[in-house]
Amino acid sequence: MNLILLGPPGSGKGTQSKILVKNRGMVQLSTGDMLREAVKAGSNIGKKVAGIMEAGELVTDDIVNALIEERLSKKNSGFIFDGYPRTLNQADLLDKQLTNANTRIDMVIELTVDIDQLIDRIVGRISCANCGAMYHITHQPPKKEGVCDACGSTELYQRKDDNEESFRTRLLEYYQKTAPLTGYYHRAGLLQYVSSIGSIEDIATRIGTTLDAG
Ligand code: ADP
Ligand code: ZN
Repeated sequence: MNLILLGPPGSGKGTQSKILVKNRGMVQLSTGDMLREAVKAGSNIGKKVAGIMEAGELVTDDIVNALIEERLSKKNSGFIFDGYPRTLNQADLLDKQLTNANTRIDMVIELTVDIDQLIDRIVGRISCANCGAMYHITHQPPKKEGVCDACGSTELYQRKDDNEESFRTRLLEYYQKTAPLTGYYHRAGLLQYVSSIGSIEDIATRIGTTLDAG
């Protein structure tokens, strides 16, 4: 079962992907995480994309396509594409690569949101640099301030693009370049909608039900 999670920034793709990894042994492919790792490592790609990401714009298709291509060959119980594809060109390339690997996308879930809630989710979001666990300063703080519940690290940080200005750009990029993918996957008969309003557990249950019904 290969799954694409679509949805605007802050819709919970990353959080829900991590739950699917834990519960179903699927493999998360997050181009956002991969690019942030490249920036952190200071690689050539990292240097190229740092400013673009901070501003909230999309990086070029060939950079992310290459990152994904590298990882598709490994056999597993299913990929979750989180934050990829983000343009029609990326979707097209992914189809071709999956066909070459003798597999396909089985379902696309769009997480639907209340736009007004997104900004609040995003500007309060913090994550653990060590294990990737995510928190929200007011709605879901770690049990002990500044310490990760999951791994005990004190390296909690806020993403550079999680500010109001970059968020607006990210949202605009989403509606201009990524939202057209819903038409593409709808025509392919793969699109399902899941409401991303409510608690993390509620949303996870809805996604699970949708996956099992598909
Ligand atoms: P979110 O969905 O919360 O906005 P991501 O972690 O998925 O965040 O992505 C962060 C940034 O990384 C994007 O704003 C963009 O600059 C870059 N990025 C991630 N995935 C892609 C992609 N598939 N195509 C182009 N840019 C990407
Ligand atoms: Zn941690």
